[in-house]
Amino acid sequence: MTKTWDAIIVGGGAAGLFCAGVAGQLGKKVLVLDHAQVLGEKIRISGGGRCNFTNLHSGSANFLSLNQHFVKSALARYPASEFIKLVTSHGIDYHEKHQGQLFCDDSAKQIIEMLFSECTKGKVTIRHPVSVASIMRDDSDWAVHANTGVEKSKAVIMATGGLPVPAIGATAYSLDIAKQFGLTVIDPRPALVPLSFTANTFGNLNDLAGLSVPVRIAAGSKGHRYGACRFIEDLLLTHKGLSGPAVLQASSYWEEGEPIHIDWLGAIERPGGFNCDELFNNEENRLKLTETILASVLPQRLAKVFAEQKNLMGRKWAEVSKKDRQALKELITNWSVKPAGTLGWKKAEVMVGGVDTKELDGQTMMSRKHPGLFFIGECVDVTGHLGGHNFQWAWASGFACAQAL
Ligand SMILES: Cc1cc2nc3c(=O)[nH]c(=O)nc-3n(C[C@H](O)[C@H](O)[C@H](O)COP(=O)(O)OP(=O)(O)OC[C@H]3O[C@@H](n4cnc5c(N)ncnc54)[C@H](O)[C@@H]3O)c2cc1C
Repeated sequence: MTKTWDAIIVGGGAAGLFCAGVAGQLGKKVLVLDHAQVLGEKIRISGGGRCNFTNLHSGSANFLSLNQHFVKSALARYPASEFIKLVTSHGIDYHEKHQGQLFCDDSAKQIIEMLFSECTKGKVTIRHPVSVASIMRDDSDWAVHANTGVEKSKAVIMATGGLPVPAIGATAYSLDIAKQFGLTVIDPRPALVPLSFTANTFGNLNDLAGLSVPVRIAAGSKGHRYGACRFIEDLLLTHKGLSGPAVLQASSYWEEGEPIHIDWLGAIERPGGFNCDELFNNEENRLKLTETILASVLPQRLAKVFAEQKNLMGRKWAEVSKKDRQALKELITNWSVKPAGTLGWKKAEVMVGGVDTKELDGQTMMSRKHPGLFFIGECVDVTGHLGGHNFQWAWASGFACAQAL
């Protein structure tokens, strides 16, 4: 038995390391335990190696949770602007890419180094690789049994993240601990993940692998776990199915057996929006071929595939019946397709589900039933949209917890 800590954090990833640094600098004695050989691996591989570390517009509308209000308090107390101040104070250069997404100019490793440096400032003790065998309530303290011995603490913070990318050490340990203490866990599933399709869904759309098209995409519905969504983003056709930001966003809302809806013209920007009828009823198009008309608003390869699908290749527009025009319009503006599944935990960026927010105090992230037991980061039923919101949640939930220790 060693000394008694103020807090033991299980999981030294984004949320765990950040929380440790803040708590340590508030004067708390903090121990971080992680089973990985190398810490911060998810940060290292994030944002294509440049870490999309926050989003200027991060707010509750950017999160999926059974309780959409849960994130509000933590985000208000530690908004993106605070993390940007920290990044700036460490001399890390960054840039905005798209819709408020902030990336390091150089490397995600700078964020990892920054988190370690903040931990050093807070005199945090970090031990890894350490295997945690069990966590028990022990009178007024908590006892964490690890292969390195038993550690006692006033608080235990579960920060082992989500299930994506098992190859770099993802586990369900925080969810297991939540269940051990009788907390409700919302069934986890892969999110921000490419969708797969059966071979015959596309027909010759398989020829389109590699094509990226801006679209309007919709998934989910009012009765679903996280409701419905609509995004305007780029869709990427791949050999395995659909990917790209549009599909990753939609995948978080998608439920098995349900279709997703794609408007291939919905991302065209025009004052007052794009109206397909304008294109189809334009007298000047009468003598043009169907695929030529479609190619004026869609990539040529895609235009050809749509014309082929409706047997309209090589047909002059004047010869296309009203019924066929309507069917073509439906195909292009409301392409409804049922994915066979997702590419799973290996390819997912995050998980939806996790420790039910109704079990936690939104000001502190502490269990309502078990004072001293906290859950932060991705293990909570809070999942951000693509674009830096997931790290913003890791920082904000870690900060809220650190303040409460
Ligand atoms: C490929 C990829 C790219 C991403 N890009 C971005 C991005 O650009 N922007 C963004 O906002 N989000 C991104 N994310 C999501 C983001 O990485 C996570 O949401 C975030 O890391 C969650 O932080 P966390 O601290 O909760 O979990 P993690 O950062 O995953 O940390 C969990 C830690 O717990 C440890 N651990 C796990 N199980 C145990 C156990 N049983 N015992 C002890 N330790 C354990 C792990 O080793 C790890 O160190 C990306 C994810 C992936 C997979």
